[in-house]
Amino acid sequence: MSSTTSVDVMALAGELAQERMKPEWSTFSLELNEEQRELQAWVHDFAEKTIRPAGAEWDEKEEFPWPIVKEAAEIGLYGLDGTLSMFIDPTGLLTPIFLEEIFWGDAGIGMALQGTGLAVSAIFGQGTPEQINEWLPRCYGSASDPQVAAFCSSEPNAGSDVSNIRTTAKYDEATDEWVINGSKSWATNGGIADVHVVIATVDPTLGSRGHAAFVVPKSEIKGISQGAKVKKHGIRASHTADVNLDDARVPGRYLLGGKDKLDARLAKAREGKTSRGNASMATFEASRPAVGAMALGVARAAYDYALDYAKEREQFGRKIIENQAIAFKLANMKTELDAARLLVWRASWMGAGTLRGAPHKFENAEGSMAKYKASEVGVKVTEEAIQILGGNGYTREYPVERFHRDSKIMTIFEGTSEIQQLVIARTISGVRVP
Ligand SMILES: Cc1cc2nc3c(=O)[nH]c(=O)nc-3n(C[C@H](O)[C@H](O)[C@H](O)COP(=O)(O)OP(=O)(O)OC[C@H]3O[C@@H](n4cnc5c(N)ncnc54)[C@H](O)[C@@H]3O)c2cc1C
Repeated sequence: MSSTTSVDVMALAGELAQERMKPEWSTFSLELNEEQRELQAWVHDFAEKTIRPAGAEWDEKEEFPWPIVKEAAEIGLYGLDGTLSMFIDPTGLLTPIFLEEIFWGDAGIGMALQGTGLAVSAIFGQGTPEQINEWLPRCYGSASDPQVAAFCSSEPNAGSDVSNIRTTAKYDEATDEWVINGSKSWATNGGIADVHVVIATVDPTLGSRGHAAFVVPKSEIKGISQGAKVKKHGIRASHTADVNLDDARVPGRYLLGGKDKLDARLAKAREGKTSRGNASMATFEASRPAVGAMALGVARAAYDYALDYAKEREQFGRKIIENQAIAFKLANMKTELDAARLLVWRASWMGAGTLRGAPHKFENAEGSMAKYKASEVGVKVTEEAIQILGGNGYTREYPVERFHRDSKIMTIFEGTSEIQQLVIARTISGVRVP
């Protein structure tokens, strides 16, 4: 039996209401601010009018869409200024909002516009202020002559296992140059970029702790060349190629972070002390929520298309959406999409906080969670869209088969879904799960 005591409910409510007038009670909001909404509308407009109509053509041609990159550069949608304004956003939301809209337009063209981002993150994360000033503008070129940049970490035997990188960098003290030798695989923009950020080992006995990142500009350095161009399942407008380094001699000042910092890090590693991560892992960690946002864009494109189609298509004398089997699919697609977006936005907000020393930092590999969930949702939602379109969905006359092909890469690059689970498991448990 419950006992009741006399309570002045109105007085209590009044007290609570006073308490919750304090500013800290009004800080949680999922409402976008004016600038975020404006960016979303502007990018969506470009995605709808310019990117989406060109998607099928560039996918079919399997070529880099320079005319669209030029158009984007002319209006400021591709370039350093836009990237910087997103990077300094304290909410962290401008980047996922931008990427979701671009990739909603088309993921292959989206990747052509975004591929430079990995090299930029590496330079921003590991470069000295002088290196950032010198190289970031060169990554993007100008509005009238845009350039792209490439980040070269993966090798034939070092994909998930970056510690297995075999590309070497040896220091030539006489000339103050690094001599780089090796072969890189699957580099986005590899060979068509001027600025290549190359991860090489300077001490193979130290595994990933012996890695360093070098800027290798193709216009200046002999010995860097494009290998085979990769033929792909999806994102075919994005250029992917092997990159070969054959006695590429790079000035000492092109080592990101500088030699003193590298020497200090290597000395620590040789003493068996832990240091804060390694060159390529640091770059991947910062960019994972962004891949989640790209996956969201493709998934939303497929969901939107399937919803419209289901409301139009008639079978057995009624719209196919009037069947619970189809309506529930769409309900689940939308629910999964929104759940994934919340994870991506949370991780992006935490990422911005981590950069600024704010209290909301990554604690449980939330960046990996966001990438893992959103990329898997992307594959599932785009597959369901094909099912909803039936035979039409399977043909190239309709875009959903392309969305499905494009979505799959999100579960593979910048850490496969299995590697994301490994990172999350290790972070939450503190156990080095094998
Ligand atoms: C289109 C495209 C663009 C790319 N762009 C770039 C780029 O710009 N720069 C760059 O450096 N790289 C790039 N990559 C490479 C990409 O990052 C790698 O392909 C990815 O990291 C996976 O490595 P892998 O292909 O060697 O697969 P593997 O590492 O061989 O993995 C194969 C399978 O084994 C699983 N696996 C591996 N290890 C474990 C484990 N310990 N536990 C459980 N499962 C495991 C994986 O999850 C996967 O399912 C790109 C790749 C593609 C296809």
